[in-house]
Amino acid sequence: KIDRSQDLQTSRMLLPVTELEQEIVETVLLNPITVICGETGSGKTTQLPQFLYERAFGSKGSLNPGMVAITQPRRVAAVSMANRVGSELGIGSPKVAYKIRYDGNTSPETAIKFMTDGVLLRELANDFLLTKYSVIIVDEAHERSVNTDILIGVLSRVVGLRNKRWKENSESMTPLRLVIMSATLRVSDFTENKSLFQQQPPVVNVAARQHPVTIHFARRTSPDYLEEAMAKTIKIHKKLPPGGILVFLTGQGEIDSMVKKLKQRFGRKHQSKAQVTLDSSRLSKSNAATGDVEIEDVDFGKSDDPALELDDYDIEDEEEDLGEESGFEEAREDESTSPMHVLPLYSLLPSEKQMQVFEPPPDGSRLVVIATNVAETSLTIPGIRYVVDSGRAKERSYNEQNGMQSFDVSWISKASAAQRAGRAGRTGPGHTYRLYSSPVFENHFEQFAKPEILRMPIEGVVLQMKSMNLDVVDNFPFPTPPNAVGLSKAEKMLTNLGALTSTSLTQAQSRFKITELGRSMSLFPVTPRFAKMLVTGFQHGCLPYIVAIVSALSVGDPFLHEEALKAGLNDDDSEDARQAVRKAYFKTQQKFASLGKNTSDLFKVLSAVGAYEYAGGGEAFCRANFLRPKAMEEIRKLRAQISYLIQSTYPSIDAKFIPKLDPPSQTQVKVIRQLITAGFIEQVAIRKDLVEESENSGKKFQSCRGIAYKAVGIEQDVYIHPSSTIFTEEPPGYITYTEIVSTSQAYMKGITSIDVS
Ligand code: ADP
Ligand code: MG
Repeated sequence: KIDRSQDLQTSRMLLPVTELEQEIVETVLLNPITVICGETGSGKTTQLPQFLYERAFGSKGSLNPGMVAITQPRRVAAVSMANRVGSELGIGSPKVAYKIRYDGNTSPETAIKFMTDGVLLRELANDFLLTKYSVIIVDEAHERSVNTDILIGVLSRVVGLRNKRWKENSESMTPLRLVIMSATLRVSDFTENKSLFQQQPPVVNVAARQHPVTIHFARRTSPDYLEEAMAKTIKIHKKLPPGGILVFLTGQGEIDSMVKKLKQRFGRKHQSKAQVTLDSSRLSKSNAATGDVEIEDVDFGKSDDPALELDDYDIEDEEEDLGEESGFEEAREDESTSPMHVLPLYSLLPSEKQMQVFEPPPDGSRLVVIATNVAETSLTIPGIRYVVDSGRAKERSYNEQNGMQSFDVSWISKASAAQRAGRAGRTGPGHTYRLYSSPVFENHFEQFAKPEILRMPIEGVVLQMKSMNLDVVDNFPFPTPPNAVGLSKAEKMLTNLGALTSTSLTQAQSRFKITELGRSMSLFPVTPRFAKMLVTGFQHGCLPYIVAIVSALSVGDPFLHEEALKAGLNDDDSEDARQAVRKAYFKTQQKFASLGKNTSDLFKVLSAVGAYEYAGGGEAFCRANFLRPKAMEEIRKLRAQISYLIQSTYPSIDAKFIPKLDPPSQTQVKVIRQLITAGFIEQVAIRKDLVEESENSGKKFQSCRGIAYKAVGIEQDVYIHPSSTIFTEEPPGYITYTEIVSTSQAYMKGITSIDVS
């Protein structure tokens, strides 16, 4: 019934999954849950939906009338795979359609639906039994994104429920099947997890049909991987035989700049200027406004220096010179001058631009694709013979000390490096050039990437789940469960922040439900405490200040305090010189603390950020003002990053990043103080003599030295740290703090007085 062209028939026959079609289909028909493992490019994503469609899955009146759903962690894959499958089947949309956040082409006619895992999670909130579907294929499960993990957890229950209902009444209900697809063989987190699947699901392994790939490590690891990637690509192009080059970088900014440079030097001469300089900033902005934010799309623009810290790794490179550079044995004598067909590939690229990578390059030119790790497993680009691997990716990470999430460039895992290398062996023998040395690979690359769920603050995971109406978090079947005590603590914290409300229903029912505030907070990829400050910070034009405070708190204290000052002085400095430095130090501290009139350490930092940017930044300013230059640079970067995320989440809000920060008005100071109080509501302390009658009650004090406070939820007395700007002031009655350090006594830092009129 399906009329595929002869060419297509032939190329389908060559895919490793086609050989196993019978086995796969039978396994899926006979089991509620099936796991399929197969190398990238083996045909899982394009063929599985077709196999099932041809067995009448998704056709009305059949035993399995519900749609075939395929989830993807990335939008680009959902869109391009829907197009590909549509054209392979010769039916296209709306029969084969996609749905990503704010975009899609589905209709009641749709039989095969590609979507992001986030979209399916949102659908679950409204229809827990997913009655529109007969099979859910969760693709790219090896990536272990939070959404995929949560989805697999929920679906393990939904499948059971649907099949129970179906057995009870087959008139009104049809069964649901789950297929989990992974590009690696490491699926034990799913298959051997008893709380997830009581019965171990069958695993179908698709044999890889991979040509040999020779791997070439760099002799040295340069922090400037952009430069290295550029040089290596040019060298391959000039010296090595035909074949596509795939370069892995970390984000849009880097990719656009490399594409532009290569086009200028090696692009086809007759290309018009307009084509050469694609205005990607405009394109990406319009796309950002309509989609979920994916991590590699987070870009901080020009001010960003993507190079990692040199001292992080450069020490272990091989010393000896190995002679001829590895991987250029085939080099031609005469250098090629054929043109390059250079294409970018990242999620925010409009889909018609993304699709270009699947088309053959113009005659006589070499295909060069510069991509994020979207090309690692989600998409297979035909004709690639050379891979240039920077070894880096943009990743979500989480700092437990300050509770901040960030999106940093870091090393990929060994498993990812292997996937990337494999991209060179699809069409024939290939070569992979790693821009890092073998010792760096051995010593600094993890075996496998940690599941994303373990790289996020737990209260963020809980909030996200609650926003999807997943109420029960303490015995949720996570593929890799986060800490259980942490989960219930997180519920309490979120309740204190107003993101959840506790309802006293029967024991079996959930006690905590999400509030409207909680829903808005869940849209921000920052810790809930900061999300609350940002959500409420829209008022009175306070957003840039809150962004600055949140960034500064995340980076940590940028001030060089007294101890640091002393250490910086030479032993033979005279007492006078020391005095002079100390005086200058206190003067700058006072200058910064005058914002908010010496009542808040957070205002002091805000003021320092403002002054730093006003002066145009720089080391000299930092030296004169006792600031750590690196911290100040990091704060600026984070401000840009958070502003970008807000802009992408709420296109209607003007959160454009402007480094310069005017001093806040009186009203704004007031509002900011309220926002800080709201954000740190469970970190409040009261002067002890105000709650317990003592000899101190009613007295006035000159400083905070020795004045005890009672902090909510803490047994012992706590004190204001001497480094606080309010230490030398009259002790306020009520304060919030950002952290507690314990030495001989418990000291609060990051103080803001809240009883200021
Ligand atoms: P897997 O999901 O196992 O990684 P896919 O089903 O994505 O494999 O890909 C199977 C084959 O189909 C690959 O060789 C790939 O090059 C090809 N392919 C996928 N999408 C397209 C497309 N849009 N145009 C041309 N070929 C494609
Ligand atoms: Mg795939």
